Amino acid sequence: MRRPHIKIRTRMTLYNTTASFLLFAAAFATIYLLTAHTLMAYLRKSLELALAQVVVQVENRNGLPYYEDEVPLAEDARYSVWLADGALLSTSGGDLPELSDAAPYTPVHIRIENAEYLAMTSGSFTVGSEQVCAMAAVSCESAQRVLMMLRLILIAALPLLALFSVAINFAVAGKILAPIHSITQTADKLASGGDFSLRMPESGMHDELDDLIHTLNRMLETLDEAFRRERRFTSDASHELRTPLAVITSYTENLLAYSALSEEQRDSLQTILTECRRMNRLIGQMLSIARAQTGSLSVHPETLFLQDTIDGIRSALSEQLAKRNIVLHNDIPADFTLIADQSLFTQLLLNLIENAIKYGKDGGNITVSAKSLSNKKQIMVSDDGIGISETDLPHIFERFYRVDAVRDRSGTGLGLSVAQEIVHLHNGTLQASSTLGKGTCFVITLEH
Ligand code: ADP
Repeated sequence: MRRPHIKIRTRMTLYNTTASFLLFAAAFATIYLLTAHTLMAYLRKSLELALAQVVVQVENRNGLPYYEDEVPLAEDARYSVWLADGALLSTSGGDLPELSDAAPYTPVHIRIENAEYLAMTSGSFTVGSEQVCAMAAVSCESAQRVLMMLRLILIAALPLLALFSVAINFAVAGKILAPIHSITQTADKLASGGDFSLRMPESGMHDELDDLIHTLNRMLETLDEAFRRERRFTSDASHELRTPLAVITSYTENLLAYSALSEEQRDSLQTILTECRRMNRLIGQMLSIARAQTGSLSVHPETLFLQDTIDGIRSALSEQLAKRNIVLHNDIPADFTLIADQSLFTQLLLNLIENAIKYGKDGGNITVSAKSLSNKKQIMVSDDGIGISETDLPHIFERFYRVDAVRDRSGTGLGLSVAQEIVHLHNGTLQASSTLGKGTCFVITLEH
């Protein structure tokens, strides 16, 4: 089963954003833990100072301990000093818990009036004749407030950074993948048009994609050269065959003019002449295709009144039409015009109409019609002849493809290939639809 199609750009964005998100989350967690640690160390230092201050301020007055509040503690600090029997010597006020069980100089968290404090005791020490114990506490509130603010900022920043990261990564992925788009577009044009003169633009970054484009362009160049050589060969070979063929035709015609020929000799010469003429047509068609493909066939677009063109073709083919008793209906509106090469377009229509006669039925009809659509024009050549089967239809534009080559010795199998080349030279398309035994319709579509 094929997996759902997710574009590389989306995937790259997803991976990079996830990586950035995890990186940001780890960085934020580190920042938060470091800040918490620093604040805690600061609080502990303040607590130690506060406790030292409290201890120093317990004086010996006449052998008895006395707390002299000479230097008041910081506002958010508390203290208490008590004697060994538990009697309170001095306190900063408030409901301070006793920490007699706590280990000396070890910070502990306590709650005073619903607020959290860090507290520490001094352990007992002797002042005069008494054992005294001091305790100091500093409020954790400001540190907690700072940490809460930091938490809020980091939590809010994380999705914003993720969004920002999506935008940046999407744009960067688009830029990185742009050459792949151009490769796909060129490959697409190659697949539909087979124009091997196309090249892919290099980005100039000299990266792996540029290397790939460079290699593909070299491959295209090699293919282009090979195709050009093949077309040149076809064109040259066709050209070279014309002269000897003309000589054979002319000598055969001369021989046929002799009256002292036996019936058998005459038949043989007639067959040679028929084959020569067919070969001549075939060479002409091969040349047309080769010239169209090498670009050496010049196209001179001009305004064409199609109704007149069809009338001209009808007169030229009147003998063939009459022989098969076929009627050619010219349904082209009088004002219907096309911008096309007069001679090439006439040849194209001639090919289609000759086929319609050849594969039409005796006493049948051929209709040539046209219509203008919003941005294109269509010309239809339809007949009510033998039709083409579903299996043959996709192949009829292939060179030398003939549905019934055994029965039909007059065809070359190149007529429709020539027709298609001419339509391509006019940037159009040629399509066929057919029902076996009912008839065929060829549609030429030109963009305008
Ligand atoms: P050919 O010289 O054999 O006519 P084409 O390239 O013109 O070569 O046509 C290719 C094949 O397509 C033909 O052999 C024929 O079988 C089929 N074909 C073309 N036009 C028609 C048509 N109007 N009706 C039926 N078959 C057709």
